[in-house]
Amino acid sequence: MADIYDFIPRELMILDFANSKITRAAAPHDLFTEYPYVVHWLRHLDVLNDEQASSLLKAAEEHPDRAQAALEQINDLRDACFGLFTAAARKQPLGAEHLAVLNRHLQEALGQRRLAAAEPEGARWEWDLPAASLDWMRYPLALAAAELLTSDQAGRIRECDGCYWLFLDTSRNGKRRWCNMKICGNREKARRHYERTRKKPAAEQ
Ligand SMILES: [Zn+2]
Repeated sequence: MADIYDFIPRELMILDFANSKITRAAAPHDLFTEYPYVVHWLRHLDVLNDEQASSLLKAAEEHPDRAQAALEQINDLRDACFGLFTAAARKQPLGAEHLAVLNRHLQEALGQRRLAAAEPEGARWEWDLPAASLDWMRYPLALAAAELLTSDQAGRIRECDGCYWLFLDTSRNGKRRWCNMKICGNREKARRHYERTRKKPAAEQ
């Protein structure tokens, strides 16, 4: 089975996973209100290929209750990740409750890992799950979250000053404040400019 790790840098993917729900912004959103949305999101990121995506969508259609349960588990992991990454971004200790949730998902994920012989030598990790298992996406996500939190990159997690999105600060001085300079950076500059020009007449009186 393909591995999420094979496709995109895991630290970016796992932050985007956490960003799929933002409640504090001016425009709150939750991208994962139905199981198929998660599948489409992973397909969009090229984590799943067409064949994998359609087998998951078919399985979800055939077993709506199981798909709903799988979605609740994915969102449970996602909300814990958001809490943990936000704490890391604010240089606060990680919350015990969020850690307990991540540890539970991790334990499940590690139980689905197995070693297989690699060509021409050595071994590689595989997932011990059928391709249409509605739950499998959650496991690599849990591992990616744990890896980010235990890596040097954890100190580079930031929370956008403008929209609360989490991002990885890869700038040399490590002082980036916005998820995207063109969007939130410019919005912030425009806001400050507006406030300066608005205050002027009063200051001149
Ligand atoms: Zn932003």
